Amino acid sequence: MPDPGEEAPGRALRPENLDGFIGQRTLRDNLAVFIAAARERTEVLDHVLLSGPPGLGKTTLARIVAHEMEVGFRPTSAPAIVRPGELAALLGALRPNDVLFIDEIHRLAPAVEEILYTAMEDFQLDLIVGEGPSARSIRIDLPPFTLVGATTRAGSISRPLRERFGIPLHLEFYDQAELELIAMRAAALLGFEVTADGVAEIACRSRGTPRIANRLLRRVRDFVTLAGYPYMTGEAAANALDRLGVDRLGLDAMDRRYLRLLADGFGGGPAGVETLAAALGEQRDVLEEVVEPFLIQRGLIQRTPRGRVLAEGGWQAAGPGTAARDAA
Ligand code: ADP
Repeated sequence: MPDPGEEAPGRALRPENLDGFIGQRTLRDNLAVFIAAARERTEVLDHVLLSGPPGLGKTTLARIVAHEMEVGFRPTSAPAIVRPGELAALLGALRPNDVLFIDEIHRLAPAVEEILYTAMEDFQLDLIVGEGPSARSIRIDLPPFTLVGATTRAGSISRPLRERFGIPLHLEFYDQAELELIAMRAAALLGFEVTADGVAEIACRSRGTPRIANRLLRRVRDFVTLAGYPYMTGEAAANALDRLGVDRLGLDAMDRRYLRLLADGFGGGPAGVETLAAALGEQRDVLEEVVEPFLIQRGLIQRTPRGRVLAEGGWQAAGPGTAARDAA
């Protein structure tokens, strides 16, 4: 999900090649094989679909694909392509084997998606020009290209589109050791001296997400700089992170509100996602794509056919004195 204001520092911290990309081991190894094979055959790389929660490295990987293939990188996002003609203009401007990156690809307009099918499959565009009786269809040949699509909602992508991606890849949340490496690397790039336990504090509070690890690192650096310390210790990191309201489970304020609502408001559930969204004043999409995946991965909630249910760990995370639990 775009994170305005973080874009410039984010870009500076982005690894440029696959070797510098930390974690996602299986995905990375497989992608390395597909890239090497395409290069060996001097062919265009097959289309790649990257799915997973925000901030896990989809855009970073798309850039890496272009870098490793030594081709151009043309980024856009689905909501920016309103009409078929706009997609045609993007495709027409590509050079052979370029990577066209479409973020939030689950949000493509149906008319745009339709012409993307033949573009992906045959490198051809079928366009209707003109209107009414004078309308006619024209076919345009395109250079071969690699479409890299990114989505936080793989389930919302239509089947015909999904099937045209030869390389579907799913990103998982990062573990503690990987996040420590990511924070360590970012600190080195920022010229910020850190101790191992300082980095460990940041990693465990990052919600399994590199973008959050990098953001917390920059905020902790602000506290440390103003306090006049020469470097970040574990204690300094812990104090700063407590002030930022991020706990040691990595839960942020929204996660905690969600858990408390499910515990106190619904006796642990089941509760429908629409109901939860309304009560939290949040969009259903945000709950489903951003908040819940992490809570599920940590075993704090479960999605059941009847609604969301608090899991055992979720009761603890919701905090002591949860009324429904005390009554149970
Ligand atoms: P997404 O597109 O999935 O929302 P991004 O690719 O924009 O995520 O990644 C967010 C930030 O996290 C980037 O600025 C990048 O610096 C960092 N990042 C993501 N994945 C990694 C990784 N595996 N190793 C190091 N940094 C990473």
